Amino acid sequence: MMTVQCCSCKKIRKGSRWVMMTVPESQMCISHGYCPTCAAKVFAEIRMASRNHHLAAASNA
Ligand SMILES: [Zn+2]
Repeated sequence: MMTVQCCSCKKIRKGSRWVMMTVPESQMCISHGYCPTCAAKVFAEIRMASRNHHLAAASNA
């Protein structure tokens, strides 16, 4: 079974929940992604960065 770990806060997905725990060293199948909390944060940062990029482009015009 594939274990999914948030690469930002290191939480492990357990069904529909994300829990803070250490991954057993025997667990080799780890897929890295983002938990909903970190995903929202990352998407907000991307949106902000893209908005800043547009502002910078506009001020150069
Ligand atoms: Zn996370």
